[in-house]
Amino acid sequence: MRMQGKSVIVTGGASGIGLASVERCLEEGASAVIADLEGSEGASRAAELNGKHAGTCLFKACDVTDTAQVDRLFADTVDELGGVDAVFNNAGIGGIAPSDEVSDEEFLRIIDINLSGVFRVARAALRVMYRQGSGSIVNCASILGVFGQSQTAAYTAAKGGVVNMTRSLAIEAAPQGVRVNAIGPGYIDTPLLEALDDDMLQGLINLHPLGRLGRSEEVANAFLFLASDEASFITGTTLMVDGGFTAGKS
Ligand code: NDP
Repeated sequence: MRMQGKSVIVTGGASGIGLASVERCLEEGASAVIADLEGSEGASRAAELNGKHAGTCLFKACDVTDTAQVDRLFADTVDELGGVDAVFNNAGIGGIAPSDEVSDEEFLRIIDINLSGVFRVARAALRVMYRQGSGSIVNCASILGVFGQSQTAAYTAAKGGVVNMTRSLAIEAAPQGVRVNAIGPGYIDTPLLEALDDDMLQGLINLHPLGRLGRSEEVANAFLFLASDEASFITGTTLMVDGGFTAGKS
């Protein structure tokens, strides 16, 4: 059991990559908090998972754009689970639109969730983990954090920001025993891609040398590795989980 007795928070944990990560952590002996929007399926998912494994599974309503909710998420988790050993900073939204048509509100909304939200959660995690003298934060970036793509200015700006913010946080937190890494998924078969038609999906599949979309569990396994003590000498990196997408690019 790689996460025996550990306490983990996963933002955006009600769906897709986040939910798979919660399930993998529970399978490996951790207690896990599904942190997601009020009204999401997080409460029912947590109720289904709680009791299936040795660890507890809780749902906490948390919008990562709201500092008070983020701070309360960590305070409540410490109260109920005794600490926070690992965080998957995973909540995020997509956004494809011609840049000349994007409003300030649309641009800032993506930045607020996908970049500022990651910072709010990381800051709250650092405060708890500094007190503990240990912890692992894993931020969800993307292949679009290291490569550009048409009609995704806000999304790529946010994910690129996550990649470099991860480096800065890692350097800053290292003396306190806290590791900070990121994951860069390729296209993963989750509800985030639901809006795409078959031709668009095939186009995305063709971008991956392994010839398919990724599965949520494959990203969850990378999170599990970075969160666990197996990655004890790894900090400041972005681990690509992309079926070879970035391998042929420079
Ligand atoms: P999902 O849409 O399945 O899951 C994202 C979750 O985040 C949802 O439950 C969503 O709730 C929640 N969420 C959205 N906004 C907020 C918020 N303000 N506060 C808290 N939770 C919120 O997507 P994925 O699992 O695919 O995405 C997870 C992460 O992976 C994201 O950061 C995404 O950018 C990244 N990623 C995904 C890729 C893919 O191809 N799927 C590729 C590369 C990166 P709701 O459903 O109600 O909006």
